Amino acid sequence: MSLSSDLNDMVDEKLKVFEDIMSNAKQIQDSVLKEILTLNANTEYLRSFLNGRSDKELFKKKVPVMTYEDIRPYIERVANGEPSDVISAKPIIGFLLSSGTSGEKGKIFPLDNKYFENIVFFTHISSLLTCKHVNGAKQGKELTFNFTKPAFTTPSGLPVSSLTSSFLKSDYFKNRPPNDVFSLTSPDKVIFCPDNKQSMYCHILCGLVQRDEVVSLASPFASVLVRAIIFLSNNWKELCSNIRSGQLSKWIKDVDCRSSVSLILGGPNLELADLIEQECSQKSWEGIITRIWPKTKYLESIVTGQMAHYIPTLDFYSNKLPFISPFYASSETMFGINVNPLCKPQDVSYTFLPNVSYFEFLLVNEVNKVEIVDLVDVKLGCYYEPLVTNYAGLHRYRIGDIVQVTGFYNSTPQFKFVQRKNVVLSVHLETTTEEQILNAVTQARSVLESSDLMLIEFTCVADTSAGGLGHYVFYWELKSKTNNANPEIDDELLVECCELLEKSLDIDYWKYRSKDGPIGALEIRVVQQGTFDSIMDIYISRGASITQYKTPICIKSAEALAILEDRILVRVFSNSSP
Ligand code: AMP
Repeated sequence: MSLSSDLNDMVDEKLKVFEDIMSNAKQIQDSVLKEILTLNANTEYLRSFLNGRSDKELFKKKVPVMTYEDIRPYIERVANGEPSDVISAKPIIGFLLSSGTSGEKGKIFPLDNKYFENIVFFTHISSLLTCKHVNGAKQGKELTFNFTKPAFTTPSGLPVSSLTSSFLKSDYFKNRPPNDVFSLTSPDKVIFCPDNKQSMYCHILCGLVQRDEVVSLASPFASVLVRAIIFLSNNWKELCSNIRSGQLSKWIKDVDCRSSVSLILGGPNLELADLIEQECSQKSWEGIITRIWPKTKYLESIVTGQMAHYIPTLDFYSNKLPFISPFYASSETMFGINVNPLCKPQDVSYTFLPNVSYFEFLLVNEVNKVEIVDLVDVKLGCYYEPLVTNYAGLHRYRIGDIVQVTGFYNSTPQFKFVQRKNVVLSVHLETTTEEQILNAVTQARSVLESSDLMLIEFTCVADTSAGGLGHYVFYWELKSKTNNANPEIDDELLVECCELLEKSLDIDYWKYRSKDGPIGALEIRVVQQGTFDSIMDIYISRGASITQYKTPICIKSAEALAILEDRILVRVFSNSSP
């Protein structure tokens, strides 16, 4: 028997556990709920509704659907030193800080060890699925852009950190079995370096030195991969000089990073430095990923929802390598896995795992009739907002995402991520949703394809500063496909983009964009390169992690808006006649 058929048999054998879970969704969901209710029956929160009982009917009848504002006071009490059993029978070991870029006020969620066990399970299944679908996926290393930052502590001394930081610093990651997940090109010390810039430099340097072994580039969200390539484009000369001399730059001060990366760097390597320099100094950066890492088979990152907007840029840099968008997860719970890892990004659905949390679904409908169904009772094609009941103290918690049922895997439903619920742009009485904004940008950026320009980041705002009349403003950061200077901008091309943006908006928008109507012509304001990094820095300084950071689609922060306004290079308006 060949090595690869041996491996396939082993993978299939291991995936059997997963197949069994997916065939018993109803029974598993019922027992997860029973377990949570029995465990948490005497927490202060649940006791007030269930009086110590734990049956499902009573739960559905008595326990209300909750938003963050409902649970905030309970969470804050535990954070301030009251015992975990205000909300959770099992000890709360810390809190997860959500990326918090859509709303302004930070949210922290209780964390227990069960959550880490779920992450281990998800990553394990997901890597098995990758092995099954990608030939040779295991025969190399993954260049993964993972970052951590120091946790801050609550008054009671519990750590507060992002989901990725908390997991990466936990023993579940540190003591992972050596052959269980893909080997990484970076030593763990690089991940634990508290300075993200030093980490990024070292991740890339380790990846360059081991270029012949790299089979994939990965990061939790696609935005980080784009950021990594831009970092490479700004720093390749210094990276090559380190490889040439075998000496790490002096500004890498983190002692653990220095010692572990110096070992990987080894001695001077002139040949490798020349080779990378040759690739990076070519005029166009098209296909740079596959030129530098020729054995790369795929990119692994979430590319659905808001992240879809990074696909064209990554397609350009990677010569259209396949994407694997592995799972759907949040600070509240892990949701689902992509069981068809090589499918096209637009076809990705996530199969919810019934053993991680208890899931209910609130139907999104026009008539505002409240209809909540169990995981196994969702209907094909319908749109829902997931409600989560987890082990750590969330009960029927509204996630704020909208998902659509696309099919079933064994008996378990699969969902496409549609959008965040509360991202809307509105000048007058119209509402333009996140999904519509993303679609409009996808249409408009196609105009850039034949030019030297790429759209790297964007955000938008409903500018109503002109009294009665308002208009949509899109801030775009553009990058040249051939160099790093602020790009030369052709106004006519951008006017065309403005018009396509407008054309893609729906009748609701156009109703008010009539002659003398309340909505004026749409505007694009091109901002200097690096502007969106400065905006990210604001959120990072407030506690967000670089790994989970998502550029706000609609900007609300006055501080961020001031940065954008300060860095405008060009402004153009749509000429479309209403
Ligand atoms: P956070 O709580 O900061 O970890 O952010 C979680 C949010 O990120 C989710 O509620 C989604 O809005 C978004 N998200 C997570 N995974 C995905 C995914 N696979 N596709 C699209 N959006 C996602």
